[in-house]
Amino acid sequence: MVKLDFHPAGRHFLQIPGPSPVPDRILRAISLPTIDHRGPEFGALGRKILAGLGQVFRTRHPVIVYPASGTGAWEAALVNTLSPGDHILMYESGHFATLWQKLAGRLGLSTEFLAWEGKDDCLPQAPAWRRGVQADMIEARLRKDTAHAIKAVCVVHNETSTGVTSNIAAVRHAIDAARHPALLMVDSISGLACADYRHDEWGVDVTISGSQKGLMLPPGISFNAVSPRALDAARSARLPRAYWAWDEIVAMNRDGYWPYTPSTNLLYGLSEALDMLLEEGLDAVFARHARWAAGVRAAVQAWGLPIQCADPAVYSPVLTGVIMPAGVDADAIRRLIYERFDLSLGTGLGKLKGRMFRIGHLGDSNDLTLLATLAGCEMGLALGGVSLAGSGVQAAMAHFAGTAAPATAGTGH
Ligand code: PLP
Repeated sequence: MVKLDFHPAGRHFLQIPGPSPVPDRILRAISLPTIDHRGPEFGALGRKILAGLGQVFRTRHPVIVYPASGTGAWEAALVNTLSPGDHILMYESGHFATLWQKLAGRLGLSTEFLAWEGKDDCLPQAPAWRRGVQADMIEARLRKDTAHAIKAVCVVHNETSTGVTSNIAAVRHAIDAARHPALLMVDSISGLACADYRHDEWGVDVTISGSQKGLMLPPGISFNAVSPRALDAARSARLPRAYWAWDEIVAMNRDGYWPYTPSTNLLYGLSEALDMLLEEGLDAVFARHARWAAGVRAAVQAWGLPIQCADPAVYSPVLTGVIMPAGVDADAIRRLIYERFDLSLGTGLGKLKGRMFRIGHLGDSNDLTLLATLAGCEMGLALGGVSLAGSGVQAAMAHFAGTAAPATAGTGH
């Protein structure tokens, strides 16, 4: 039986790459009394949230908020813009790209799944899961599609299963260079509010995101940021949709309301999260995550273990994947670390189950929580019999002590 009253002394270290640790300021906001979602106060809250979301997605166009997990927002993006049998080009960057492709297939779309096909000695079973989206492959494929049968290009910005953050501007450039009219849909479920993201500037038609990563909220709400082209496509798209349909939501959002009962208390939390992010300044938020990520990578390198992302140009600021030596079960190490040190790390997903684990560096964290996390990993790896080249904790301490925290626009937290 699961022990739900398991509360060891001190705080639990939730260092998975989302859900991320929720700041107290947000937890307090969520605990306020629920109000009438048709009343005047709610309209003011809704309008404030929708304006703030525009700043975080960097868009002047609508952002739809669903009371759903990220998977719902994936589905919403597809059913609002496409018709049965439409052909779409997706890119296999990792496990989440694979799940999105499966979902598209279940909706009756015809999917083509591109992947980098080079060799990788370290992870021969998943070479594409160590690199970013290859925009040149997308361009080459689109150039061949002279009949414009491909209706959308779908990519994941920050692959939470691998620790790779792809270059979305390069994908936009590839589509433009091929002079192709396909819509560009981007999953930034774990990238938003950690890594630089620009919905309008990068010409993204639908950005999908979720609450439980960079926005530092519990799971439960997700988003579609939509371009005017996506809204146009929704007028003629024929996939069935009701709950996910954008039109009624956009119409009611003008006054700050939703056609159904929204997640009132999570929206209080979202309002607080937006205040925190915008007080700190988005550029400072990105720099903070990049600095943490560099400290964690310094630790992994000092251990002498391979970082899953093989291309430094696309290292993720959100999480770091750590590959285990052959014959070591990463999940056994994770279990040991959890049981001994009350620290949760992300499991290897899909093709990489048991081969790697993931360290999240997002949400309510700071240099010292990350050092404690790395200490837990280092002790667990040693206890699990993994021979380490050196101390990752020392390397991370040197990094954090030697680099100043980025200047912020305000206090934020
Ligand atoms: N896409 C990415 C990149 C994710 O990280 C996740 C969840 O971790 C999802 C999609 C699926 O979102 P959810 O589990 O909230 O449905």
